[in-house]
Amino acid sequence: MSFKNKVALITGGGRGIGAATAQLFAAQGARVAVSDMDIAPAEEVAGPIKGLAVACDVTNREQVEGLVARTVSELGRLDVLVCCAGITRDNLLFKMTDEDWDSVIDTHLKGTFLCARAAQKPMVEQKYGKMVFLSSTSALGNRGQTNYSAAKAGLQAMARTLAIELGPFNVNVNAVAPGFIETRMTRATAERLGVDFEAFKVGAASQIPLRRVGQPEDVANVIGFLCSDEAGFVSGQTLYVRGGP
Ligand code: NDP
Repeated sequence: MSFKNKVALITGGGRGIGAATAQLFAAQGARVAVSDMDIAPAEEVAGPIKGLAVACDVTNREQVEGLVARTVSELGRLDVLVCCAGITRDNLLFKMTDEDWDSVIDTHLKGTFLCARAAQKPMVEQKYGKMVFLSSTSALGNRGQTNYSAAKAGLQAMARTLAIELGPFNVNVNAVAPGFIETRMTRATAERLGVDFEAFKVGAASQIPLRRVGQPEDVANVIGFLCSDEAGFVSGQTLYVRGGP
């Protein structure tokens, strides 16, 4: 995978899977815009890789359009968009509030929609682009995640649809669907359930055929592959990264 002379924009790039993805693209020669809700985590990741740190709430159209404009003006172009920004607001249906529903749907679905719509412009103009959306095994159904599983299934449909729309302009759009990945998100889930994180990981690993939980790099490597020219004929797919089928 070489991303020499390429520019990658990662949302949710300040932590977890997004941070590992930003580091991978930089290591393979790309110039990277690291965007996150808050500037501090974005700067922490962007600093060592000499990237551009930008604070951006992906649910805000003006901020997203500003993020893409800044990336193009300061880094010269935009070749890769990876949408990692995400949240969970888990609850059983009878306890799930309107706020739980709206915030998760907005962050994942509207956020990815706004980023993709803004990013397609320079990509279509230059007739080259790669987009990867973060789905999840929760797209297949997961207790307590009506909001999140609906959003993550929606992102697979969005990837398929945009692969059809943008394919004629040489833009590939794919999704990755991770299982249990060791990040702040899974740590927060353990906390919410009142379970020690190490015990939570051991329990999760016992259910995974490869008998371990995933690391952010496991997902970043697959995202890198999907954005590489080696995967140039792969579009509209969802690749599960979960240590098993
Ligand atoms: P993290 O919580 O470690 O990182 C997510 C980042 O997204 C955080 O920095 C968060 O900021 C940021 N973010 C949240 N809302 C917004 C917003 N509106 N605008 C911009 N940034 C925002 O999560 P992961 O790295 O674990 O997850 C990355 C993606 O992968 C998510 O889409 C997640 O749903 C998905 N995923 C994760 C799995 C896992 O097991 N970890 C499994 C399957 C999918 P802040 O800290 O301020 O909230």
